[in-house]
Amino acid sequence: MNLYVEMGISEKVYDYGEKAIKKLEDRFAVIDKIAEYNQAKVLAAMQKNKVSAVCFAATTGYGYDDVGRDNLERVYADVFHTEAALVRPQITCGTHALTVALSANLLPGDELLSPVGLPYDTLQEVIGIRQSPCSLAEYGVSYRQVDLLDDGTFDYDGIRAAINEKTKLITIQRSKGYATRPTFSVAQIGELIAFCKSIKPDVLVMVDNCYGEFVETIEPSDVGADMVVGSLIKNPGGGLAPIGGYICGTSACVSRCAFRLSAPGLGQEVGANLGLMPSLYQGFFLAPTVVASAEKGAIFAANLYEPLGFRCVPNATESRHDIIQAVELGSEEGMIAFCKGIQAAAPVDSFATPLPWEMPGYNDKVIMAAGAFVQGSSIELSADGPIRPPYAVYFQGGLTWHHAKHGILLSLQKMIDAGLVKL
Ligand SMILES: *Cc1c(COP(=O)(O)O)cnc(C)c1O
Repeated sequence: MNLYVEMGISEKVYDYGEKAIKKLEDRFAVIDKIAEYNQAKVLAAMQKNKVSAVCFAATTGYGYDDVGRDNLERVYADVFHTEAALVRPQITCGTHALTVALSANLLPGDELLSPVGLPYDTLQEVIGIRQSPCSLAEYGVSYRQVDLLDDGTFDYDGIRAAINEKTKLITIQRSKGYATRPTFSVAQIGELIAFCKSIKPDVLVMVDNCYGEFVETIEPSDVGADMVVGSLIKNPGGGLAPIGGYICGTSACVSRCAFRLSAPGLGQEVGANLGLMPSLYQGFFLAPTVVASAEKGAIFAANLYEPLGFRCVPNATESRHDIIQAVELGSEEGMIAFCKGIQAAAPVDSFATPLPWEMPGYNDKVIMAAGAFVQGSSIELSADGPIRPPYAVYFQGGLTWHHAKHGILLSLQKMIDAGLVKL
């Protein structure tokens, strides 16, 4: 306790947190069970594929016959129960992985459909919803969108009407990202996929799985997705992967992705691992427990802030399908105080002070708190949000539950110190 006081968290805030945690024991136990199952799933895949020290060797140049890289892809394919996987440092981030998956499987004249409303910000330029050089639109791929109904459910009639002879690929974003709609469960995604395939059996379905991996015991690839796609500096990298993305799916889809990523004719055969295999394997091994820690942090925050009158999305009690927590703080001052707490609790750059700033591509000022070992990593404890009503911070991550707890307590302390809330 004394150490907490020395680190700036008062006894009163600490006790308030302990009371919240007492009530969360049952929910945390469920999260631990899911992590235990997913840990076994990853372990089984590593054992089946005989992961050994040979897999950790660095390769350079073309990277032909890269045993470690090829085996990591088999491990990912086994965990996601897919025929094939493309997992490598040449995929620079989640947006890149999604771009490869889309542009490899859509040809001029094809149509892309999003039945879940507007996709994540960065995807809008990829698709051409916002104009950009080299967008899919520029290459003659059209786009159609069906918004969710007011209650956040799928507009099945609208989707039926939108699917046509040109519809080649359907993209489903699992996480709400930085929108206010709910995150979908894997079961809900399964229902949507089944509906779409009942109308057009040969349509391809890609799921943007960012922030969702290992939150449940099944993944969208278990319920009919042809491709699941994500970033290694989020959940599946376990905090250790310094770069990378993954595409798991059918052999037909994934091999096209490989030809798009490198070059027609070369495909999956090239791409040196540059010595990153130890962190990609070990990060994947740790990912189930890291995701559990982040999820506990998100639930803890909702249960700390909601009783104090701040709207939380998801709320304090509802079930979770990703690791993102939004807290509406109601003012710019609130967002600054919250982010100061997250920053001050970081293992890296704890001495920095986050301030609202103009950012390219955003209409409003944005504030960001991150003190991460891997730059920009959002599986590490981090918070950000645009300075506009309802003044919501989106926060996520936490490599350990204890660090997530520490950061959230310190955020509340900073809110109290700024006179914005009273216990
Ligand atoms: C983060 C994210 C992306 C993009 O990933 P980057 O690694 O930031 O490029 C895409 N979709 C969703 C839902 C995300 O959360």
